[in-house]
Amino acid sequence: MTFSHAEFQTLAHGLTPTGQAFIDGAYRDALDDETFETTNPATGEILVNVAHCKLADVDRAVAAARRAFNEGSWSRAEPEHRKDVLLKVAALVREHTHELALLESLDTGKTITDCLHEIGTEVPNFFQWYAELIDKTFGKVAATGPSALGLVVQEPIGVAGAILPWNFPLLMAAFKIAPALASGCSAVVKPAEQTPLSTLRLAELIHQAGVPDGVLNVVPGFGHTAGQAIGLHGDIDTVSFTGSTEVGRMFLRYAGDSNLKAVGLELGGKSPFIVLDDAAINDELIDHAAMAAFWNGGQNCSANMRQLIAAPLVEEFTGRIVERVKSFKLGDPLDPATEIGSMITKDHKTMVMDYIQSGLDDGAKMVIGGNSDLPGFFIEPTVFQNVTPNMKIAREEIFGPVLGIMPVQSSEEALAVACDTEYGLHASVFTRDIDRAIHMARALPCGTVSVNGYSEGDIKTPFGGYKQSGSLARDMGIEALSQYMQTKTIWICS
Ligand code: NAP
Ligand code: MG
Repeated sequence: MTFSHAEFQTLAHGLTPTGQAFIDGAYRDALDDETFETTNPATGEILVNVAHCKLADVDRAVAAARRAFNEGSWSRAEPEHRKDVLLKVAALVREHTHELALLESLDTGKTITDCLHEIGTEVPNFFQWYAELIDKTFGKVAATGPSALGLVVQEPIGVAGAILPWNFPLLMAAFKIAPALASGCSAVVKPAEQTPLSTLRLAELIHQAGVPDGVLNVVPGFGHTAGQAIGLHGDIDTVSFTGSTEVGRMFLRYAGDSNLKAVGLELGGKSPFIVLDDAAINDELIDHAAMAAFWNGGQNCSANMRQLIAAPLVEEFTGRIVERVKSFKLGDPLDPATEIGSMITKDHKTMVMDYIQSGLDDGAKMVIGGNSDLPGFFIEPTVFQNVTPNMKIAREEIFGPVLGIMPVQSSEEALAVACDTEYGLHASVFTRDIDRAIHMARALPCGTVSVNGYSEGDIKTPFGGYKQSGSLARDMGIEALSQYMQTKTIWICS
């Protein structure tokens, strides 16, 4: 069912979001009753006061998670039972898509259209996919002589922490919670301070589906309070973190300073979009280029913001991208026609505008955008031409709608420029030559390379970064389970 702008506004007014933490099967205030406000960045309106969880609340959540894990009603449940319950989670998310999408749109400034897509399809698909995997995943039997039986079994690691960013709140929650619960772990999740509402509501739906008390806990708070408490906790066995490279480093330190918990990191990027000289600049390519840069207002870790275009195609490419950008509709995220919503906060908008200024100062040519005069924290999609590899806007992750077009003379130069970064999350390559496609795909040091289209893959394929874009851990795919499982050898002698 689709609604009009006015209908979404009416539905939004009828929402009663909760800002309480979800700990041990119930919504609760922080132990010291402190709260912080979460706002709608598109309007500045305060949505609700949110429990500010700190060490004591995280302790309470971890104790509940550990108790539940040890009791075994989830961790040692029959696989078929966990599967049934997680399939119910998927069904409940589908049933509550509009409510969850509205909460997310209000809390983030993301467009309702994107929220509906992510929450109506991707989020429930994650729960369904991991649910269906539960009774189809087997251990191994080692090759031995007749005097031994060597079994290799996977066991849930215990209590998993999850630290979420603000750009895709419920999707990132599902990235972590679905495989953690499918594995039999208990979890303690900290949503980003700006965007706790959809994850808090999801916790209740997960409980309603039949996940026992204490297995899933959501502790909203700040990085230096709830986040640090999770990172340093002595009774959390693994942490899966998505966010900036800078804070990712802290989680490695937290682990070293506490109990050597496993740390899975999904971090930042500065990903290239490479168009080789044999590619055709058609509508499809331009749509992919625009999507790669401006989806979610550029607040996307795998955004392709360095667009390396074969020199003979630059003029045509730039003209077509500018035309496409002109057609983007910015505005009220609750209007289904809106394609680009608000930046997440005023500070974030200021940071992105500073990058735009640095592009101008460094001599890049702004061909469209750069305007910040709209109400709320909106920024028009901005395109720079004549960007060179050493400019700040070519090197640093901006996390806003600022695309840099860089001419390249050859595929070797494209590869060299693409590789010249500390990041390695994603790359796109456009060519009609299969040999060049294979060469580029193998040579690019990135967790995902997408050929002749901008894509991050789907639930079946692992997602994560090379170099400083992440650790060896992967979200999505069967690979995600290894963040939440440990391997045991059972050697039976006869
Ligand atoms: P961030 O500042 O690193 O925050 C991520 C999470 O870490 C938030 O929950 C934050 O808490 C918490 N945190 C901040 N400081 C902390 C500290 N000292 N100790 C413990 N926790 C702390 O990143 P962000 O601004 O939310 O997200 C943007 C970044 O995420 C970008 O770099 C982007 O590339 C990356 N990202 C990566 C992926 C991926 O899969 N590779 C996906 C999406 C985003 P608060 O809520 O208090 O801020
Ligand atoms: Mg908010």
